[in-house]
Amino acid sequence: METKAVLHHVGKKEKWIRDTLHKLVMQESPSEDRPAVNAAVDLVKLWAQNQGARAKRHKQNAFGDVLELRFGQPRSTLKPVLLLGHLDTVWPMGTIDSMPWRESDGRYWGPGVLDMKAGVVMALTALETLQETKLARPVVLLLNSDEEVGSPVSRAITERLALESAAVLVLEPAQGLAYKTARKGVSHYNVQVTGVGAHSGVDFERGHSAVLELAKLVQTISGFTDLARKLTVNCGVIAGGTRSNVVASSAHAEVDVRIAKASDAAYVEKLFRSLKVSDPKCKLTITGGINRPPMERKAGTIALFKQARSIAAELGFTLDEAETGGGSDGNFTAALGVPTLDGMGAVGEGAHAAHESVVIKHLVPRTALLAAMIASVK
Ligand SMILES: [Zn+2]
Repeated sequence: METKAVLHHVGKKEKWIRDTLHKLVMQESPSEDRPAVNAAVDLVKLWAQNQGARAKRHKQNAFGDVLELRFGQPRSTLKPVLLLGHLDTVWPMGTIDSMPWRESDGRYWGPGVLDMKAGVVMALTALETLQETKLARPVVLLLNSDEEVGSPVSRAITERLALESAAVLVLEPAQGLAYKTARKGVSHYNVQVTGVGAHSGVDFERGHSAVLELAKLVQTISGFTDLARKLTVNCGVIAGGTRSNVVASSAHAEVDVRIAKASDAAYVEKLFRSLKVSDPKCKLTITGGINRPPMERKAGTIALFKQARSIAAELGFTLDEAETGGGSDGNFTAALGVPTLDGMGAVGEGAHAAHESVVIKHLVPRTALLAAMIASVK
């Protein structure tokens, strides 16, 4: 189908996009509320089945289920295109009362509307458009329920399906107006210091302060930041001690590390493992490591982006690329070497913030671009 014809078809579904997005936002779905996320899974499963999708539900105990939806020719010789999204949000139940669904200033507002319920509705719309014109290739739409908590249970399913696929298109929000061709990797470390507690008045000399030791370590650890290397280290949480008149026997820090290059994971690991206490009576325990590897800007991703940019030009707009420090499930698939393009969902502002909203006028052209990309992956 001609790109312009795709745009025309998607344009006729504007009302469906709005109504469907409204229903999905009204069904709140915080990651930690399994029944709530599963209710959102039920909704999407039904809509997709109405479009002829074959649905498989990967049942989960700790989080909501992972929904695998298959579209197109089951017996095609072409590898599938994998569309990745999530149905969970960061917003607790009841947020909809203080942040209600509304339509104003050319935007749709509400919890999870941008990250990423609009992306999910865009994918369904793109697939329906392609089905109407006999979708030639198989497409898998995989929606998980644990992305906002680091994808602990869905990661294995995502990786398995990615390895079978020709390309991965991620439905996370755009960065401004740009698609995302690089994302930083994320590591988490917990730095635990055990000292020797003592009465600060009676027995001061017997004490060995874990708080003092941790304070020195925080300086050292923060010094690992190397902006030229795009490596950042943030001691986001520190805690320790019990009272001002007790030499603290325990203190800990929680550290978030972002890396741009996969090889920096081992470099960072070495830095953390080489940390030492200056007071030999204190004990240091380091736990943690890498959570998401970086999505590096590699040839497969660049090729997908160039294709998207030329389709966008046919649709009448300029598409840029951007890198971000935030992680997504695209980090996992890109790290496996599967061409991955991210940020293909909605345009808007305020993910994880009170002004979360989606710009309405971009929904149709971006959905047309998504559909044309699905159809044109080699
Ligand atoms: Zn997201």
